[in-house]
Amino acid sequence: MAEQKKKHKKRRTATRAAASIGPMVKEFIAGTVRAQREGAQKLAYSFIVCHHEEILRAMDVLPIWTENFAGVCGAKRDAERFLQRAESLGFSRSLCTYALCGLGFDHWREELGEMPPDAPWGGQARPDFMISTGQILCDPRAKWYQAAQQYMPDVPIYNIDLPYPLYHPDRDHREELPYYHKYIVEELKGLIAFVEEQTGKKMDYERLWERVRLSDKTWNLIEATYDLRSAIPCPMGTGDAMNTMVPINFMMATQDAYDFFLNLKQELEEKIKKKEGVVENEKYRLLWGGGLPSWFALGDFNYFNSKGAVFPAETTYRMVAPIAEMNIPKTDDPVEHLAWRWLGYWTFWYDKARQRKGGEPDVERLINYIERYKIDGVVMHEAFSCRTWHVGLIWQLHQLAKIYKPIPVLRLGKDGNKTQAWRENPSLVLESDIIDITSYSEVDTRNKIDAFIDTLESVAKSRVD
Ligand code: SF4
Repeated sequence: MAEQKKKHKKRRTATRAAASIGPMVKEFIAGTVRAQREGAQKLAYSFIVCHHEEILRAMDVLPIWTENFAGVCGAKRDAERFLQRAESLGFSRSLCTYALCGLGFDHWREELGEMPPDAPWGGQARPDFMISTGQILCDPRAKWYQAAQQYMPDVPIYNIDLPYPLYHPDRDHREELPYYHKYIVEELKGLIAFVEEQTGKKMDYERLWERVRLSDKTWNLIEATYDLRSAIPCPMGTGDAMNTMVPINFMMATQDAYDFFLNLKQELEEKIKKKEGVVENEKYRLLWGGGLPSWFALGDFNYFNSKGAVFPAETTYRMVAPIAEMNIPKTDDPVEHLAWRWLGYWTFWYDKARQRKGGEPDVERLINYIERYKIDGVVMHEAFSCRTWHVGLIWQLHQLAKIYKPIPVLRLGKDGNKTQAWRENPSLVLESDIIDITSYSEVDTRNKIDAFIDTLESVAKSRVD
């Protein structure tokens, strides 16, 4: 492990904005440790993509993003000792390694009564309460904090359930939306009542509206900013987006997140004007079509770049959609708006998918990005320990190849004549984990990337348009 840490080189970013993220994350992790010491604010363990940041921030609760801290341990190649500690407590390595890392860390911190030695970026603060969420098949979102409660029995948990209607090709999901909406509003109101009890403060609904409007504005700005990446050459790739996901997922409902994207947009516009791309001679434009990254191996994005390949778009961590296109019903209640936005986000691709034979929302999103960002190939990452985001990725690739063939080529018929045909985008599936470095081989990964680049080259040669 020491050897792995020693050899690890920092990933090169293409944008100033992405380079500024490290110190920002360090500061907000340090901020939670400071806040705990000073007792000025309540701290809550939280999961990303729950649309409850506005509630927490309106009530001055500081979220501790436990997935983020585990990712930081992974990126610093310092997760193994926490994973091993969790294993020694009886948790299997095949569980979500974010959860294992967090549990190992919490157990160590609680045992010592202080941060474990050399805790990454000062360590993860002890929470006042924990908010778990039953959603999107993620078992740790419901079970992780229950397991953590073994080591912190005095820390209460509140669970919010956040469902959404499943896609059906022949049924309009709008029929079910009012039922789901009512349910989610009740869940979010339950959370507000719990936070009021924990903080001893009453929710200020005007303040909540301010936070909600700020998030909506930020969502639209993110969409506009990321759309700039369709430029040729591409000014920012997925490697950088794995940094700029921080304001999306950990800083939403703050002015800092909005300002961050304002600056990033300006930076990208300048780069486009100067025709400054991520790579000098852009040859291949790739879509990161799914899967959380290996945080310890983000340098692989630089390796793709060294082969002339760039990622103008990714589905991972782009957890926003244009608000105006969601047709959110008008309401005076910010909680109702949050619930509509939740449903609007998760059903965003349903209508478009229904219009295509064999369509499916996740695949529809891939097709939309392939066209919008002029994509040549699709790359996915199967991280073994997170079943939530990774179940169905291979199926999506198969489905994509079946229903979408955008590349014109010549095919040799049985009669010896060549006729024009259409083929699918080449694809690559990488395999490893989010933070478990023992699952990763740099040599194998790069061999796979090399072979994929060869495929892209041969497909480019066979194009007839
Ligand atoms: S299973 Fe996946 S989505 Fe759930 S906590 Fe772990 S990494 Fe996050």
